[in-house]
Amino acid sequence: MLDRSTIWPYRDAEPGEFIYQRYRHPTGVEAERELGKLDGGHAVLFSSGAGATTALALSLLAPGKTIALAEGAYFGTGVTFRELGRWGLRQVEFDQTRPPPDGVDLVWLEAPSNPFLTMPDLEAAAAHPAPVVVDATAATPVHLRPLERGADFVLHSATKYLAGHDDALLGAVVCKRAEDAARLVEFRTRTGIVAAPDPCFLLLRGLKTLDVRVRRQTESARELAGRLAEHPNVRLVRYAGIGGLLSFDVAGAAEARHVETSLRLITNATSLGSVDSLLEARRRWEGDRVPPGLLRLSVGLEPVDDLWQDLAGALEFPGSLRSPE
Ligand code: PLP
Repeated sequence: MLDRSTIWPYRDAEPGEFIYQRYRHPTGVEAERELGKLDGGHAVLFSSGAGATTALALSLLAPGKTIALAEGAYFGTGVTFRELGRWGLRQVEFDQTRPPPDGVDLVWLEAPSNPFLTMPDLEAAAAHPAPVVVDATAATPVHLRPLERGADFVLHSATKYLAGHDDALLGAVVCKRAEDAARLVEFRTRTGIVAAPDPCFLLLRGLKTLDVRVRRQTESARELAGRLAEHPNVRLVRYAGIGGLLSFDVAGAAEARHVETSLRLITNATSLGSVDSLLEARRRWEGDRVPPGLLRLSVGLEPVDDLWQDLAGALEFPGSLRSPE
């Protein structure tokens, strides 16, 4: 149900369940209930994934505290934490396939990491005394429910698979404990990092098809990862075995540009998790952190043979470009 009201009248001068949109609104509450069921916890929605990240970091930590961030996790998460560094938050990076470092106050994992597609060692992280956040944007609750594996919080850019159609910007934190969710709701109300009713409605609609979309995207991504690995102009394929996200390397920046400009079906755009396949060279955003030929592919719902034909066509390089030696 979409309710765009910002106010709800008092009854006999008594405020009811809904008062003012920044506090809570019916569409958001319904979307939080549905997402909470999927992840097995208490969901709190925010205006974006980055907003959810900011809210979680600021509400859990204090100046001088340190976040251990998975190496190779979403580039923007490190950028957000650096921004918060001006308020005294520190970050260190670590290899999430190994135990987190001692002496940190929050452990931040990503399953699988974007765009390196590593999976975290959840058991090792759960044994660490600090609270554990798993950004499961790329796995989705279809493939992974981190709260059942010892995590305290799940973070989603709901902009991606959960909403699923490139038309809603939203973030979510799903908490294991109700008191943590209440604290986040309070923080959200006071800071105004709120999710508006329209994207919450689109999230509700997206959740109805999440399972079928993600299963199909996973099937296609597995198939494409296998075919790409055999292609003579592809140096390396990264795929976690779950979800619709993968990345692969061509020889360099010129070859990556050729692929980006030659695609006909796959959209050359940023983001992931849509019904439409998206591809981009990540070097333009992440700089030296990624190889110049790294292409990130988010597999959509198009027929897999059509996707392969598009990729194979774009991977046919003219003589001026390099094939891997
Ligand atoms: N986490 C991951 C893994 C992402 O890929 C992104 C966005 O690309 C975010 C968080 C941030 O989400 P948003 O763009 O909704 O702010």
